[in-house]
Amino acid sequence: MSNNNGPRERNTSPCGAIDNVDDGCGIIFERRPLDAGSLCQLCKRLQRPGITREEIQDIRNTIVQCGECGIVGTATITDPCGSCRKEAAQEARLAQNPEQAEGAQRRREFMEKRMGQKPAAPPGPVTPQAELAALRSNTDKVGSFSIFYEVRKSNAAGSIDKTLGKSCTPHPENITMLELQERIIKEMNPRWTDKHLSNLQLDETELRVQGNVAFPPKDLGLTIRQWYNKYNTPETREAYVKTPKGMTKGTSFSVELFIDMEKVCE
Ligand SMILES: [Zn+2]
Ligand SMILES: [Zn+2]
Repeated sequence: MSNNNGPRERNTSPCGAIDNVDDGCGIIFERRPLDAGSLCQLCKRLQRPGITREEIQDIRNTIVQCGECGIVGTATITDPCGSCRKEAAQEARLAQNPEQAEGAQRRREFMEKRMGQKPAAPPGPVTPQAELAALRSNTDKVGSFSIFYEVRKSNAAGSIDKTLGKSCTPHPENITMLELQERIIKEMNPRWTDKHLSNLQLDETELRVQGNVAFPPKDLGLTIRQWYNKYNTPETREAYVKTPKGMTKGTSFSVELFIDMEKVCE
């Protein structure tokens, strides 16, 4: 499929396809073969019917994905993977511009292109400069997101539990939403056990967006950054991305921990 005489055509379609109709991670893997289908390998694994939280967590803990072509693997895969490195080196030689081969440079260009492609629909709200700057500044290091959470024990509107507390804490952007859920439970458990005999368990809770908005369980396998990028589109931003009061857009959002009282064993 690739032509060894020059750079092959770059993929410009995000995982999940345009408007994310196939529910992917939204990442544009530039070196993905053009005929590889809509979902990247990682999303395909995460979308296996009947996948459990433990399996999602296991995939996230053991699987490495090449950010350029999207292939996945365990210990043998690096990011970028060997083939992508080779391909980039060859392109750089052909262009007689060795600087192009430098990973950091390519990565910046890749991210900038990705950012530039994000607001595909011009009528939507424009991404504010501060948000873009925050995203860009995060491309070379692991950034963090300030996550505000509240707790609810019922689906009724406005039924935020006042006794179990709330907080706004920074978390690394590369932990999964599932890990975020575990961290919130851990932080809240000392208050929970004031009135209950045992700690609250992961499967007795659900992570939702502020306002009791649920999202598909398989998205718990996305990192905080991937989750944010997936939902921060003109179509979904309003419903899913709630910036906490006084916090910076682009590096913070609000969630709720729903406690399913029917599952709680007293
Ligand atoms: Zn994907
Ligand atoms: Zn690759």
